[in-house]
Amino acid sequence: MKNVHVIDHPVIQTKLTELRDFATDHRKFRALLNEIASLMVYEVTRDWPTRPRPIQTPLERMTGEVLANQVTLVPILRAGLGMADGVLRMLPDARLGHLGVYRDEKTLEPVSYYQKLPPDIAASEVLLIDPMLATGGSGSAAVSCLKKAGVLHMKFICLVAVPEGIQLFHSHHPEVPIYCAAIDRELNEHGYILPGIGDAGDRLFGT
Ligand code: URA
Repeated sequence: MKNVHVIDHPVIQTKLTELRDFATDHRKFRALLNEIASLMVYEVTRDWPTRPRPIQTPLERMTGEVLANQVTLVPILRAGLGMADGVLRMLPDARLGHLGVYRDEKTLEPVSYYQKLPPDIAASEVLLIDPMLATGGSGSAAVSCLKKAGVLHMKFICLVAVPEGIQLFHSHHPEVPIYCAAIDRELNEHGYILPGIGDAGDRLFGT
């Protein structure tokens, strides 16, 4: 699939299998989701530009490399919060925006209800995060909000995606790369991913 990156690293796959397990409680689920998010950052940020930064080591002067651009994480509320700390652990200077999008349970259509983004977000590298790319509606609506805010460089990070969600997302935003740890089989009639992980928000927050 074009512009879709499946990070099938054995350590990530091991953690994902544990997280999928129905017997995993919310405390462990939360920890695993953040650990996977941290590990995914290496691959997601691989092509980010760097700029030279002169420093003094204890022995001599040298010029190192640091990330060139400011970073903004935008978790989609509420399940996206479950990956934010893990990403922040790797990118502690990042700012955090929030987008509230929920899926109407009857129509499965996205409804946007909250948006708080840094005013100068347009110039930053943006990581949009949501564990599930299911119908693709919420992710796609969130990207449209970010484009309206002027964002030029963004990537979408999720844990599990399905082909129909990827297709819908990329039918609206083909240039936005999707990073995930797995592409599952399909959606059921209620819009849940199979085999999936269940309701990510409920499992994360114990609701
Ligand atoms: N959202 C979830 O939390 N789980 C799914 O399987 C699909 C959407």
